[in-house]
Amino acid sequence: MRSLGLTAAVTLVATGCGRAESLTRPDVSGRTVKIVATTGMIGDAAVNIGGDRVEVETLMGSGTDPHLYKATENDVVAIGEADIVLFNGLHLEAAMGEVLERTTTTITVPVGSNIPEELLDRPAAFEGQYDPHVWFDVEMWSHAVAAVRDALIDLDPDHASTYEDNAEEYLADLDDLDTYISEQAARVPPDKRVLVTAHDAFNYFGSAYGFEVRGLQGISTASEAGTADVSDLAAFIAERRIPAIFIESSVPVRTIEAVQAAVRSRGFDVVIGGELFSDAMGDEGTEEGTYLGMVTHNVDVIVSALLQQPGEGE
Ligand SMILES: [Zn+2]
Repeated sequence: MRSLGLTAAVTLVATGCGRAESLTRPDVSGRTVKIVATTGMIGDAAVNIGGDRVEVETLMGSGTDPHLYKATENDVVAIGEADIVLFNGLHLEAAMGEVLERTTTTITVPVGSNIPEELLDRPAAFEGQYDPHVWFDVEMWSHAVAAVRDALIDLDPDHASTYEDNAEEYLADLDDLDTYISEQAARVPPDKRVLVTAHDAFNYFGSAYGFEVRGLQGISTASEAGTADVSDLAAFIAERRIPAIFIESSVPVRTIEAVQAAVRSRGFDVVIGGELFSDAMGDEGTEEGTYLGMVTHNVDVIVSALLQQPGEGE
């Protein structure tokens, strides 16, 4: 168990590896399990692993920034009525995490805590905290998915085999996705494998699949990018002749447009290569509204934009 503030506080309630010895396990025999998930990525794992046994409510919909998200009154009610709350932890849900810390009546499981500590980064910019964007290294995310499976088995042991079978299938899909990303990334020449986005959500993606990553804002979107950051990033892009930079669904577009304008003022034309889903999935019912679809979309957008010739496009 790690000594991270949020995780430690919550595991006092959940104890051990997300198991809720100190809370009475609700009797879910003869009814479906009520799950509340913070992010869409966690909700997607719960839907796939839980199947017919579960009802999943995801609190943070498309376009929602988890770093800045504040729990609504409805969220507090949903948390109180849930059998289990699954959240990322690692300080992703900053303000929401505080609400979960205070929750002593519902089992809460920080699924990110199941990721082996040696895989996690602790970037200087994030003041001693771990980088919470663990879903973009698909293999790393598999550990969080396994935590969802284990939590459901603990809660509803009568249906353990259902959860095990569903998880096996879902984890196999993730494995295929991991291979797909590596194959696609390999199409981009190594010196052009640079990913410039609005905030630092893609460091694990970069490490796993061989991209150099530059984000305009820090790990959390809570700090605004300054003009010096814009200028430094613009100089880097112009010098390296990076063909494309990317906007993010959960971060305002203006941050990355400012970079594009600054690059142009240096006489180089960088295009906006498309929108990436960073901290939130796409709309429910769309391809990008699933974890697999979201990550596939991202890699396809990144690879096709970076394969363009520098300065070309518009
Ligand atoms: Zn983020």
